[in-house]
Amino acid sequence: MTTVPTPQAKATAQEILGQCPSWCTTDHQRDIETGEFLVDVTHAHHDTGAVVSMSIDGEGVDVPASVLGTILDVHPYSDNLHQRLPNVSVEIVDGHWVDDMDPAGLANLIATLRRRLDDLDRVHAQLLAARAEWEAKG
Ligand SMILES: [Zn+2]
Repeated sequence: MTTVPTPQAKATAQEILGQCPSWCTTDHQRDIETGEFLVDVTHAHHDTGAVVSMSIDGEGVDVPASVLGTILDVHPYSDNLHQRLPNVSVEIVDGHWVDDMDPAGLANLIATLRRRLDDLDRVHAQLLAARAEWEAKG
């Protein structure tokens, strides 16, 4: 078991690179050069998700927004023991995250979103029927 480092402890290159997993895409060279704190060492893989045009600010102007982006990460020296295991955070929409989910938490989110997508399939069918009815009354 790794002991909890003091917040001021600087990470050595070995502490940064020694546990780097195969899926990590973090540029650790910059971490090493800038003197990363040990508690801030992060191995991560980012997926930007999909871009959907939407009105976010209520102004009625559509802008591109990231939807369902993900970060798979691990913080091997974190004060939070939960973060010493790989977790996934999901950005539902620009800036709104469900953070640090373990496998069960991610499975729960996927099931919730899958049910919602099934609901949207039903709304899509309703929309098609509503349009057909509307045009028939034309
Ligand atoms: Zn890494």
